[in-house]
Amino acid sequence: MNCRFCKLDPKRNKMIFSTKNFVFFLDNFPIIKGHSLLAPKNHIRKESKIPKDQWSEYIELSNKAYQYIKKKYSRYPLVFINAPQDQSVKHFHKHFIPGYFGYLGVSKALTNFLKENKNV
Ligand SMILES: [Zn+2]
Repeated sequence: MNCRFCKLDPKRNKMIFSTKNFVFFLDNFPIIKGHSLLAPKNHIRKESKIPKDQWSEYIELSNKAYQYIKKKYSRYPLVFINAPQDQSVKHFHKHFIPGYFGYLGVSKALTNFLKENKNV
């Protein structure tokens, strides 16, 4: 299988931290500076498919990632998961984006995105 997130390479991907089953790293195609991703090391398609025995590890790393973004960028992150059919890499990943979207948040970001990408 040719999956970029199954073959994360520390030479090409800036790792922030990892645990036994998950990794948190900078997105190579960031929407804005600091855009980071949390992903399982194994090829999993959806959050609901994370094995039960890895769930607490996943939640702990999610919390750590959240605090990391807050501390490093002085803003709480916008956190989201694209629907499986809309993932650019078909391997589960959760986005953490330093909160630059203001109080309109996702709605504003999506409106801007759709204006700039009329063919989407
Ligand atoms: Zn994968």
